[in-house]
Amino acid sequence: MAEQTNPFESLQEQIDDAAAYLDLGEDVLGRLKHPERVLETNLSVELDDGSLGRFRAFRSQFNGDRGPYKGGIRYHPDVSRDEVKALSGWMVYKTAIVGIPYGGGKGGIVIDPREYSEAELERITRAFATELRPFIGEDRDIPAPDVNTGQREMNWLKDTYETLENTTEPGVVTGKAIESGGSEGRVEATGRSTMLTAREAFDYLGRDVADATVAVQGYGNAGWVAANLLEKQGATIVAVSDSSGAIHSESGLDTRAVREHKDETGSVSGFEGADEEFSGEELLTLDVDLLVPAALENAIDEELAREVGADVIVEAANGPLTPRADDVLTDRDVAVFPDILANAGGVTVSYFEWVQNRQRFYWDEERVNDELETVIVNAFDDLVQTYETHDVPSFRIAAYVVAIDRVAQAFEEGGTFP
Ligand code: GLU
Repeated sequence: MAEQTNPFESLQEQIDDAAAYLDLGEDVLGRLKHPERVLETNLSVELDDGSLGRFRAFRSQFNGDRGPYKGGIRYHPDVSRDEVKALSGWMVYKTAIVGIPYGGGKGGIVIDPREYSEAELERITRAFATELRPFIGEDRDIPAPDVNTGQREMNWLKDTYETLENTTEPGVVTGKAIESGGSEGRVEATGRSTMLTAREAFDYLGRDVADATVAVQGYGNAGWVAANLLEKQGATIVAVSDSSGAIHSESGLDTRAVREHKDETGSVSGFEGADEEFSGEELLTLDVDLLVPAALENAIDEELAREVGADVIVEAANGPLTPRADDVLTDRDVAVFPDILANAGGVTVSYFEWVQNRQRFYWDEERVNDELETVIVNAFDDLVQTYETHDVPSFRIAAYVVAIDRVAQAFEEGGTFP
């Protein structure tokens, strides 16, 4: 039988695995495994040639027991209702493990943004913002960037919302450009938490990340910044990949030069400083100290998991391992540090952006990075403490035990209505 890779089922399995170590009633568990509501909408937008484009779009509000729903919006042809539901659930447990006062949400449009002009993307984003308007707000649900979205889309979302509401409310979305109320350090934040998690992980394992060889799958915002910051920690980035393939250098890649090459040519392939090129899949099996998956869900399945050469994995992407891959890696004693901690820097600095927006008082980059480090190091300590005291088989389960406990407590303290 082919391995199931429905991310929503993966999420539910992860919750069940962790719930086995917690004393939760069936009613609470049921609540933790399903979204509170999902908006599904059909956007109709005039395209540049005068025809009408139709796009399916979703926003899942998974759980709001710890605060307003929070999470990104992605533009990708593979977006589906179940994917958005899963991603919104991961946000619930991500915001809980790092202890920021949010619930979890996620949205997406089924679209390949490369096929549309900037003007079309603006109209599509504004159409989605119009549909989202009754459901979002700085105390209700706060979108942010995700795969294929960034400052530009967040600025459009904010502008549409503020225009329709006849107000200024920059905290309605995060990940905005600085001049539109964004925060210093937000763009780098996901990669920064990946680096911090790797640094803490190696330290916990009695090793030094400065001595590590590293392979990074995916060279978008998360992967490239993680690679660059790990290089600055002294690690040797021996391979990176994107959808075009992987590049390799035994002595280490100059991550910034690779970034510049990708900006110019559209991909990492053909980078002059590499001594070898191979498939993206091969990168996942390299014999390195640290593997950082920084692309999409299900990058590593059961079969590939048997071939993984790294002994530490730090997940910059959301859900990069299938549940069976996770089992195989646990059996093989590969230390996997989960997405809900390792990429939580993005939403953590989103939280700082939201705090700054509400106070109309802005921090410098040093303060943002210092506060982020405190949050990630504390969350890492909570995770390993639970790993040791609860005798759980993996760091992922430890992370979910901490997070689920926090969400369940908030739910139980609030009780039910009516
Ligand atoms: N999309 C990012 C994530 O998956 C960031 C979410 C946010 O900043 O709200 O964590």
